[in-house]
Amino acid sequence: MRLPEAIPTGRMAQAELGYGEIYLTITREIPDPVPIPCDKAGGLDIGIIHLGLVSDGQEAWAISGRGLRSVKQGRAKAQAHLKKTRSRTKPGSRRRKCLNRTQHRASKKMERVTRHVLHHAANQIVAFCLTYGITRLYARDLGTLHYKKRHRRSRRTNQDVGALEFGRLEQYLEYKLRRYGIQFIKISEAYTSQTCPQCGHLTKMAGRTYRCRESGYRAHRDGVGAVNILNKGMHGAIRPGLILAPERITYRRPVPLKGTLRRSPAESRHVAGGINGGESGGPLQGLTTRGRSHRGSPRISAL
Ligand SMILES: [Zn+2]
Repeated sequence: MRLPEAIPTGRMAQAELGYGEIYLTITREIPDPVPIPCDKAGGLDIGIIHLGLVSDGQEAWAISGRGLRSVKQGRAKAQAHLKKTRSRTKPGSRRRKCLNRTQHRASKKMERVTRHVLHHAANQIVAFCLTYGITRLYARDLGTLHYKKRHRRSRRTNQDVGALEFGRLEQYLEYKLRRYGIQFIKISEAYTSQTCPQCGHLTKMAGRTYRCRESGYRAHRDGVGAVNILNKGMHGAIRPGLILAPERITYRRPVPLKGTLRRSPAESRHVAGGINGGESGGPLQGLTTRGRSHRGSPRISAL
């Protein structure tokens, strides 16, 4: 294995095996630790439509997962087409070799895009915690979500951003939060998406909006998930009436808009609980620094 000559100095935070390559995440020590003024909790709901929805019960940021999903879907289609073309070529032929290379290159690119989106999504979640002074972030234990037997999944679901991506997002979050002394606590997700934050009644949801059959409470579904996780984390169980879903949700994209990752037109019209959280994405200032663009930054190198 050959390492690049100009490798940044610092402590290795993570090594990841990608598609035919290894990613090294290197951190540099922060000279003076960030002081923690007080103890405050937040809840994070990791999901498909929003890669993450993070809330402290008042404010909420939704980090869109649509970009990643559409890239995946487009990629699956291209892959299928390539496979078909490949099957019509002779083994060992120049055409076959060329197609193999194309496939390999496409896989590597997909892997880079996924990794990029997940890192940025994690950075946004960290930024939320820093902005609102969260020192403990509760998230659902993904182990209980994806390995339990479910009814047969549709082809569409199988292509979606899956357990693998959620697991990686969680991994990134864990070390990124640790840098700022923020605790990342996983709790069982049981009933966190079904329980009414106001009255505690259980409703199985189908759409994007939570509607309680008992009390008539209405809110954005992911907001409900996040505050229930927060409630459960803080009190050991969901105590109805204590933390309601935030009225305003700020929508953020995990990456600045460019190239393959385009925002779907539906997203900009997305409304939570009747009140629109208008802001959308853009690169974060000061909170996230990437090694390449901020070489002199003492805080974080690499992603
Ligand atoms: Zn209710």
